[in-house]
This record gives sequence, C-alpha cells and structure tokens, in this order.
Amino acid sequence: MFSAQYHCHNNCPGDYRLDTIIYNCPQCGDLLEVRHDLDALKQKSAAEWKEIFARRYRATEWPYDSGIWGKKEWVNPHIDDKNIVSLGEGATHLLRAARLGNRIGLENLWVKQCGNSHSGSFKDLGMTVLVSQVQQIIANGQTIRAVVCASTGDTSASLAAYGAAAGIPAAVLLPQNKISAAQLIQPIANGALTLALDTDFDGCMAIVKELAKRPDIYLANSMNSLRLEGQKTIAIEITQQLGWQIPDWVIVPGGNLGNVSAIGRGFLMLRDLGLSDRLPRLVCAQAEKANPLYESYKIGFREFHPKLAEPTAASAIQIGHPVSVKKAIALLKEFNGIVEQASEDELANAAALGDQAGLFNCPHTGVALAALLKLVARGEIKKSERIVVISTANGLKFPEFKIRYHQEKLNEVIAKHKNAPVEIPASVEAVMEAIQRRLL
Ligand SMILES: *Cc1c(COP(=O)(O)O)cnc(C)c1O
Ligand SMILES: [Zn+2]
Repeated sequence: MFSAQYHCHNNCPGDYRLDTIIYNCPQCGDLLEVRHDLDALKQKSAAEWKEIFARRYRATEWPYDSGIWGKKEWVNPHIDDKNIVSLGEGATHLLRAARLGNRIGLENLWVKQCGNSHSGSFKDLGMTVLVSQVQQIIANGQTIRAVVCASTGDTSASLAAYGAAAGIPAAVLLPQNKISAAQLIQPIANGALTLALDTDFDGCMAIVKELAKRPDIYLANSMNSLRLEGQKTIAIEITQQLGWQIPDWVIVPGGNLGNVSAIGRGFLMLRDLGLSDRLPRLVCAQAEKANPLYESYKIGFREFHPKLAEPTAASAIQIGHPVSVKKAIALLKEFNGIVEQASEDELANAAALGDQAGLFNCPHTGVALAALLKLVARGEIKKSERIVVISTANGLKFPEFKIRYHQEKLNEVIAKHKNAPVEIPASVEAVMEAIQRRLL
C-alpha cells in the first residue's frame, strides 16, 4: 500500500519507479527526488507511527534493528526484506554535550553521532538504501556489473563495505593524496577496485558521470537521490530521541550538500505527516577553503558560482561544485537557514575544544562546531535554545589531523588546545613531577 517514485526536483511531469536506473530528469536534466505517497502514509496516525518507530528502535528483529530499515515505509517501501543489505547502520546516539555546552554558555547542546556507524561516517545511512535497491534490481533479473562512485573518502569506504557484504563489485574513484590513510585502506580492505586519480573530487565526479551512462554500471553518488532517503532518517531519529520535540537549531557541515538536503527533507516529512508542527532552523557549515554556498548565501542566494575548492583539513567537504546545491538552497530558504564558514584555524580549534569536553571530532564536525561558536558569539543562537550538531564521521578516521594539530603542524592553525605528549625518563620521581606540574 505504501509507495514512492522518482520525480523531477523541478516538477517536470513524469514519475519513475525506484527500480529504474535513472539519476536525472529526462526533460530538464536536473536531479530527481524520491516522492512518497503521503496519503498512504497518512492512513496511519502520527501516534501510530511514533509507536511503530519506538517499538522497532534498536530492536533485535532484522532488518528493523537498523535505524534506516526501522523506518522502511518512509524510506523505500518497495524493497523485499530479503534484498536488504544492512550493516546495522543508524540508530546512533544523540549525545548530550553538557560540558562543551557549559563551556560556551549553552544549556541544551546535543551532538548526533552519525559517525558511530559501520564504516565510520553517515554515508552508511544512504548506502544501505542504494545497495539494497541494486540488490533488488539484480533480483528482478537486470544486469548490474558494478557500482561506482567518486569520493572524498567516506562514500568509497561505505560503498566498498556494502558492496562486499552484498557480493556486488564496487569501483571507487578517489583524488590521489587528498584523503586520510584510514579512509584509503577501507575500500582496499573490502576488495573494491580502488582508483586513485590525479585530480580533485570534482574531477573524479565528472568521470563517474560518464561511466554511469552505461546501463550495467550503477552510480552511487548522492546525485542518486535514493541515498538521501536513508540520510533523511537523521532528522526523524533526532526528533524521536528528543521525545518527538523539534530542536531549535540543526548545524551540519556541507560539501556536496546532499546531507543538509536530506535532513531538511526528513523534517518536512515529519511535519507533513503530523509528527511535528514546526521546523528547526538549519545551518550549513562550510570550510572557508571550499565555500561556494557561503558566498551565494552572502548575496541572498541570488546567484551561485561553483569554484575551485582549495585543500582543507576538512577533506570530505573539499568540494567546489556541489551536486545538490539547488535542493540545498531551496530547503535552506524554507528553514530560514544560515550558511556559515570556518577557517582552518577555527575548525581545528573548535574540534579540539570539543575533544577536551569528551568528544572525538572529525574535522568536518569541527567545521560545524566552529559555526556554532560564531552563531553564539553573534547572539543568533540563544543560551537556552536546543541545538543539535551533526557529527558526520568518527574522529578515529582522521588521526593525521589530530596528531598534526597537537604537534602544531597543521597549516594556518595556531593550536590553542594543544596537548603534546611529555617525554620523560622511566622513574617514579619524573612521573610524579610531571603529574604535579600539570594536575596538582
Ligand atoms: C560526505 C561528508 C560530508 C558532507 O556531506 P555532503 O552531503 O557532501 O554535504 C561531511 N562530513 C563527512 C565526514 C562526510 O563524509
Ligand atoms: Zn525536470
């Protein structure tokens, strides 16, 4: 009874089944989005949906134990359970960052730990939907020989994992020397064809688009709007975890701008289906080195110009030509949104400040935290407001960033919260003296 189809983001006529291999509107060439039959979903009341989602949350009943598939009817109702490829994604902790909040004068600060996922980033939330759809297409008798993506590191890690779990060959295109060692080893370990190209992310993306013209190669980038359906559960989960309360602010780092679009869609769906009666304000945080959306925001989104993204420690958002920019701008307008930016110094120090309050942030979460600090300093975010920062990846994926910070070796960064190891002789006196100097 539930159903969803692809539909043009610009509203050109035409619906396409989710098992067709299609990424763009055949009429205007723009992105598609997944539209759900809301009338069908409305046949259950808001209270009934809340009860269903609560019952399934982190339950043991496969596949509903997944944060994504526990909301299957809202995500992709057409997948047979036997074709679902799940690695236990989603259902991540909404962490109460009380000490960090206290330190910066906020009473109600939360961090959504999306990086606590199988491959260590939120990319898993969308990838489970995409790879399950591929599995379903193959089960229907169509030939798909490979799933491919361009990546700044986390998409390829996620695709490789889900591809390996399903037995579907994956090829990933990465910019050479621009991703962390941890990110590079993931697709290698999972057996994906790992191609390191002498270009940047935007260069890899241009090539992948050409490859995906073949009907037997399936495109796994976020221009494939199936991924956003999985990622949209971030919004639903946050609301559920807050006792079905909508936060005042949601701050998310943005590169290709799929995730901010997905989160916006999630909040809209909650409202449209009566599970909430308002929207949060959305903040998209960009690295100053890769800030085309910020520049557009500064001129009221009247124009948007792609730009060459410069190297940044926030490597997963080093993107100058974001695929989902139109979706993101439309949503940010609807959510009275803000775009903020962070310099290398600001993002690294904000990440370290969070770490000292018990977090372990990736540089992109650092960008979001830096945006938070700026909005608090400007008085836009008020002391008592409820704020959720989206942590997009696990800090353990970015050891070089952290080591170099504490060694004061990051470019353009003055490490205010540096904590270098103290090298001392192996004697009780020396250790006692070191403890006394620092802690007593
Ligand atoms: C992909 C990614 C982002 C950016 O998400 P977009 O959808 O491209 O805007 C941010 N942080 C991390 C860790 C990522 O992997
Ligand atoms: Zn169109």
